[in-house]
Amino acid sequence: MTPKRTESIREGKSKILYRTDKPDTVIQYFKDDATAFNAQKKGSIKDKGPINNGVSTSVFKFLEKNGVRTHFLEKLSDREMLCRSLEIIPVEMVLRNKATGSITKRLGLEKGMPFSPPLVEFFYKSDALGDPLIGEGHIAYLKWASKDELNQMIETTLKVNTLLRPVFKEIGLELIDFKLEFGKDKSGNLYLGDEFTADGCRLWDLKTGESMDKDRFRQDLGKVDETYLDVSERLQNYFKGKL
Ligand code: 5GP
Repeated sequence: MTPKRTESIREGKSKILYRTDKPDTVIQYFKDDATAFNAQKKGSIKDKGPINNGVSTSVFKFLEKNGVRTHFLEKLSDREMLCRSLEIIPVEMVLRNKATGSITKRLGLEKGMPFSPPLVEFFYKSDALGDPLIGEGHIAYLKWASKDELNQMIETTLKVNTLLRPVFKEIGLELIDFKLEFGKDKSGNLYLGDEFTADGCRLWDLKTGESMDKDRFRQDLGKVDETYLDVSERLQNYFKGKL
């Protein structure tokens, strides 16, 4: 029987998390709402919910096929994804292949400066504090993750980059940076959680260098709805028959 959502656990900026009638699972419900700059800018992107659910489903299936443990279990409907229930580790893992966004402001680096090997940064997941940059010391001291768990998170983040960069290249896009979240199940097993969508990564068009991600919304670059649809169609075409 298809699991059904019951009461909501929490509502975030782009998703609502529900309990279900199946033990140890949750449903992620993808909304069209879009926010930026710690929710100071609010709007919505046409069909972003179904688009992001579809993109995340394909990416998670691809990652699972390639040995990355994710919380994804099943796409239930246009906007609903059934996932393992996890206790989320409050650390956002950001991997950067090139400098842009917060790191250019924080460290005065030139936009487009390559990081080879890629740079991995940690941010404390806290809307109230605006997700501040943290170091390994904070994660260990505050017991957000053990040394071993953090190492697994770093390794998996690097592996996700190695797996996804060629996929995006194949569809004419350069994977510039992305954010991942991890969590643990009841037995303490670590899984990749949350989502992988154009909301949480940067993609530059290989020919034009144009932003093909949420920066179009953040910076009022126009063609936001069209870009989300375009990236999703390219990815779904690429993955057709492969997952
Ligand atoms: P930056 O630190 O430059 O703002 O972001 C680095 C990368 O992580 C970008 O791809 C950005 O979209 C993603 N990212 C950082 N923080 C968040 C967040 O709170 N939510 C989402 N969806 N993505 C984030």
